[in-house]
Amino acid sequence: MANSELHHVVVVGGGAAGLELATSLGDKLGKKGLARVTLVDRARTHIWKPLLHAVAAGSLRRSQHELNYLAQAHWHGFRYRFGELIGIDPAARTITLAASMDEEGREISPEQALSYDTLVVAVGSITNDFGTPGAAQYAVPLDTPDQASRFNRRLVNAFMRAQDQDSPVRPGQLHVAIIGAGATGTELSAELHRTARSIIEYGLDKIDPEKDLRIVLLEAADRILPALPPKLSANVFAELTKLGIIVRVGARVSEVLPDGVRLSDGEVIPSELVVWAAGVKAPDVLAGIGGLETNRINQLVVRQTLQTTRDDNIFAIGDCASCPRPGSKQPVPPRAQAAHQQADFMVKQIVARLAGRPLRNYVYRDFGSLVSLGGHSTVGSLMGFVVGHSFFIEGMFARLMYRSLYKMHEAALHGGGRTLLGTMLLGSRPAPAVKLH
Ligand SMILES: Cc1cc2nc3c(=O)[nH]c(=O)nc-3n(C[C@H](O)[C@H](O)[C@H](O)COP(=O)(O)OP(=O)(O)OC[C@H]3O[C@@H](n4cnc5c(N)ncnc54)[C@H](O)[C@@H]3O)c2cc1C
Repeated sequence: MANSELHHVVVVGGGAAGLELATSLGDKLGKKGLARVTLVDRARTHIWKPLLHAVAAGSLRRSQHELNYLAQAHWHGFRYRFGELIGIDPAARTITLAASMDEEGREISPEQALSYDTLVVAVGSITNDFGTPGAAQYAVPLDTPDQASRFNRRLVNAFMRAQDQDSPVRPGQLHVAIIGAGATGTELSAELHRTARSIIEYGLDKIDPEKDLRIVLLEAADRILPALPPKLSANVFAELTKLGIIVRVGARVSEVLPDGVRLSDGEVIPSELVVWAAGVKAPDVLAGIGGLETNRINQLVVRQTLQTTRDDNIFAIGDCASCPRPGSKQPVPPRAQAAHQQADFMVKQIVARLAGRPLRNYVYRDFGSLVSLGGHSTVGSLMGFVVGHSFFIEGMFARLMYRSLYKMHEAALHGGGRTLLGTMLLGSRPAPAVKLH
């Protein structure tokens, strides 16, 4: 069979879900000539998104965890196309990719159409600032590695400015306000508490961490980690407070200012560094794309087969999909473990589709939630499938479980053997404890 006659699976978005899927399909189908597999991403490299708070805090180097799409495609039997999805034509079975430019504004590729037989949309989610005035201008979101690196540079620059200026450190100059105490905001606050002190230890003697440094975590709900069990919230609240992080619940942000954050009751919290980590939505490009059903946060609505409700050839997985969860009013949550499970499930769906077998229904399994507090502690709740309810864990066991989610992602991309080897060799390189440039 000529190569162009092979069934063409196009995966758009090479994140936690899409890259695992493309890698596995490439290994199982692409390498054996059973299908053509193409991954489209608007970035050139992949980094697992739950690591971004550590990139922002400076405790993790991007280069050690970034994976080049072109190389991954070459090793695993799929094709990589650099491009941004801007349209879907379900009738013609094509997607439209925007023209791509290099840093000097020269065109790399023109706007073009790419045809598919099966399309899997896996473009993830972005921060939802709900149109709050000043948020887009003054607060940094943590959606991409570049944004995480930008925040880290702002942080280091703020410290260097404070060190070099003639005047004393201003109130608010080295304060960080983190808006949203979900897993991202909570983990970032603890990680920053640790790394900010480490940066100061590199000779920035004009800064007094106890007096000048302040991390404020703001949450509109009546407890932090509102999506997780109350016992977990209470434990994490106690840990953060012990560290000296100021945690404010019931604090709704109405405006982000150049030098602070205004709450809905008018109170202004001085802070020259602001991170927006409250709420997610699927990228705006998905709203009503190709006449497909989307919800109020732009997610593509899918059935339990992961097919979109209006087109059997188009599937959606990960954060950009709203997938029903039997027995629950809430859809499958936008989490890395759901992305991992759906990628794995999707491989079987595509194999079944190619073989003409009926598709199965995906059922989300919640294995619990873990929160890492920047090396200070890891706490979480695990689902006990035997006892039928969640139980609380902390300490070394929790830390190992937390790492295992990333290890599963790495194993899906590189194979179990290489991941084990990498785990044993990592950490042997001498380097400063935080990123300093
Ligand atoms: C700081 C942080 C910490 C987190 N911590 C946890 C955690 O501890 N546990 C947990 O379960 N979850 C966590 N999450 C959530 C988790 O990262 C997501 O649920 C998961 O990454 C979703 O996977 P995905 O494949 O759907 O999307 P992503 O991993 O976001 O991948 C989306 C991909 O699509 C690409 N893309 C986007 N738009 C386009 C376009 N128009 N055209 C082409 N390509 C496009 C992007 O470049 C990206 O490669 C965290 C998230 C953040 C931001």
